[in-house]
Amino acid sequence: MTPAPLACSVRDCAAPLVHTGTTWRCARGHAFDVARHGYVNLLQPQDRKSADAGDSRDAVDARARLDAAGMSATLVDSVATRIASLSSAASPLTVVELGCGTGHLLRTLAQQQPIVGVGLDLSTRAIEVAARSDRDLQWVVANADRRLPIVGGSVDLVLSINARRNPAEASRVLRPGGHLLMAVPAEDDLIELREAVLGAGVERDRVTTLIADHASGFIVVDRWTTREQHPLDRSMLSDLLAATYRGNRRSLAHRVQTLDQLTVTRASELVMLRGRESGNLVIG
Ligand SMILES: [Zn+2]
Repeated sequence: MTPAPLACSVRDCAAPLVHTGTTWRCARGHAFDVARHGYVNLLQPQDRKSADAGDSRDAVDARARLDAAGMSATLVDSVATRIASLSSAASPLTVVELGCGTGHLLRTLAQQQPIVGVGLDLSTRAIEVAARSDRDLQWVVANADRRLPIVGGSVDLVLSINARRNPAEASRVLRPGGHLLMAVPAEDDLIELREAVLGAGVERDRVTTLIADHASGFIVVDRWTTREQHPLDRSMLSDLLAATYRGNRRSLAHRVQTLDQLTVTRASELVMLRGRESGNLVIG
């Protein structure tokens, strides 16, 4: 199996890491132990936001239950179909997912085509769940907002599906001609839930901002929307709330308890970008 193109996360090192059974090690001697379930934690203290970095255990588990129930099945299928068109028979795609959570999307992709897959997430809990479900892909605890622990120019496809975005780092790790596939919630995403618990369906256009943020390093090669509707019972609505909203979740959760069932729209805007042949962002 082609090894994942991991790079050392020790400050100012960034040398490639080599997998030697129980550790990942760089040529300068920095070593990272492989955890019991097979993942590796490359998070450095300076890249940690708080002692308990990443999503809470409740949010991680709620999102995993929603994935298992097929809450984003149409979105996942659409991503898989689009990526299949990038594959060549010659070699498997190297795919890095930013904010992979418990790894549902990457696992689904790997079931449909051979990939060298790396899932990055700040949550140790999420990465542990991902690694327990899959031993063939590489799961890494890392902060996708900082320097990615990935060798420059080594990746065919970076995924950011309703997750963290890092244009400069995506540009650095992609091979020439590599792609970046991103999804953001469409204006009517979860509109029924927002109307029910927030009292108004606040709409905002996120995709325009996304494209503008990537304009200096990437060109848009494709854009589309996915939309699916799911009837959710009270426990799934609670999960959706826990997975979606930070902050005033407690008061929102109280309002969900008044709902028995609600059909909820899941809608995403997808944008496929390709690195500019010249004028790529040059970082380090
Ligand atoms: Zn190193």
